[in-house]
Amino acid sequence: MPDPVISSSWPRVLSGMRPTGKLHLGNYMGALANWVKLQDKYDCYFFIADWHALTTDYADPSQIAPNTVEVMLDYLAAGLDPERSVLFLQSRVLQHAELALLLGMSTPLGWLERVPSYKEMQENLASKDLTTYGFLGYPVLMAADILLYQPDFVPVGQDQQAHVELTRELARRFNQFYKIGDREVLPEPKVLLTPSPKLPGTDGRKMSKSYGNTILLSDPEPVVRQKLKTMVTDPARVRRTDPGDPDKCPVGDLHKVFSSPETMAKVYEGCRSAGIGCIECKSWAADSLVKILEPIQQRRAATTDAQAIEILNAGSRRAAARAEQTMIEVREAMQMTLTTVAPS
Ligand code: SF4
Repeated sequence: MPDPVISSSWPRVLSGMRPTGKLHLGNYMGALANWVKLQDKYDCYFFIADWHALTTDYADPSQIAPNTVEVMLDYLAAGLDPERSVLFLQSRVLQHAELALLLGMSTPLGWLERVPSYKEMQENLASKDLTTYGFLGYPVLMAADILLYQPDFVPVGQDQQAHVELTRELARRFNQFYKIGDREVLPEPKVLLTPSPKLPGTDGRKMSKSYGNTILLSDPEPVVRQKLKTMVTDPARVRRTDPGDPDKCPVGDLHKVFSSPETMAKVYEGCRSAGIGCIECKSWAADSLVKILEPIQQRRAATTDAQAIEILNAGSRRAAARAEQTMIEVREAMQMTLTTVAPS
């Protein structure tokens, strides 16, 4: 028996992440924390994009499955709730491949070559051969991921807006060619901009797995404290007696995101007057982080890998039921159905 489609009158949102490993505070503040809040007023679909991971890791896919489990554990730990959100795995919903193939038929090659991240990622990942059909086509797969669920909004950060724009263009192009009567079958989703505060990694650059400067959601307290200890600070504070400026310090940026107004006041006062040392200031920042991470880690510890996989499988069945509704219309619009012609 296929799973029924659970309908909701709330506007629908959809977003996902690639399974690159355990999630870090940058992933949390840039997306996950916002997704958790969206559950209160949207019909939410969140997925793990394991086929997207293959576009860059095709030569060694060994980490994709274990990373998928880690990401799912982090999703649940952060507060994504399978009762309120459909949490699913891209590769378990074969309609993603079908719609990507069909969308690809009408996708002009030039549109894909012009995607800003296409050249950028090829340069950043120069050690991998990304001159592949799969990598060039990943925006088409991404468009399929989105359009399958006909979401009203796609919550993304500023840097991913271009992808949603391309998805909208691909939907428009599809709707020009194919309709059911006068009706368009792939509505264009809108961007829901996610507020993402500046979150530096331990080396002061943007927190990112590729820089190796992350603080993981699952880092135990001693690891968090150790990472903070080695974090770069305002370069003007060479000696303990030199005053500094939290607005020019990555640790100051962490305080702004995670610390209370009282702690912030102590940081500004103490740093600018050289009344506190960086070690003390960093220990306050670590206190604030540990407080945020504690409930997340408690939830993570309470979930087994098997439970996470079971939830992902159940969510994938629900997602597939919803995706199939769209595909029935797509196939009909594209006349990819056989009907029996009555003999004359
Ligand atoms: S006291 Fe704090 S905010 Fe000031 S430079 Fe040191 S770590 Fe940065």
